[in-house]
Amino acid sequence: MGKTSYVIALGSNRRHRRYGAPDKILAAACGALAEHGVELLDVAPTFRTAAVGPAGRSFANGAAHVASALDPVAMLHLLKRIETDFGRRRGRRWGPRVLDLDIILWSQGSWTSRGLTIPHPGFRMRRFVLDPLISIAADWRDPLSGQTIRQLRTRLASRKPVDHRRGAA
Ligand code: ADP
Ligand code: MG
Repeated sequence: MGKTSYVIALGSNRRHRRYGAPDKILAAACGALAEHGVELLDVAPTFRTAAVGPAGRSFANGAAHVASALDPVAMLHLLKRIETDFGRRRGRRWGPRVLDLDIILWSQGSWTSRGLTIPHPGFRMRRFVLDPLISIAADWRDPLSGQTIRQLRTRLASRKPVDHRRGAA
């Protein structure tokens, strides 16, 4: 198989001792993808979301459209490796995280294997994923619902706000 493309969501809500604030971490993570041979086709602007509650930290969320010869399993493996390189400790699903990298969409459509589902199962209901996607993948179609990213975003905006735990796309 030649190169295929992926839409990757990036999130962070912790400072990094070297890279600094969450938005700097996302920029560094894009650099790390490129260093690992992933071609950056388009990078969305970063969205900052204020912390919820006194103990919360603010999030930075972004997205990148990338091309790679890696298949989805190898791509997930690389993303996990970069998360670990950035100091992410696994285990606490909703805890503060230096870096979260998720595969949201794939140019070839759907994929399901153990530990990996594409499109990412939660992304349709997550504004902090859809917002950055609008600038790089508005016309992509979700293979499951048949809706474009723009349609999913519009539909979500017209719903009553729901208190979704966030940062975990
Ligand atoms: P979340 O991103 O939902 O907050 P984690 O980053 O801790 O949670 O990931 C939990 C697991 O989700 C990963 O170990 C991975 O195997 C699995 N997973 C399933 N589908 C995807 C996907 N499309 N992108 C990234 N991880 C995925
Ligand atoms: Mg993740």
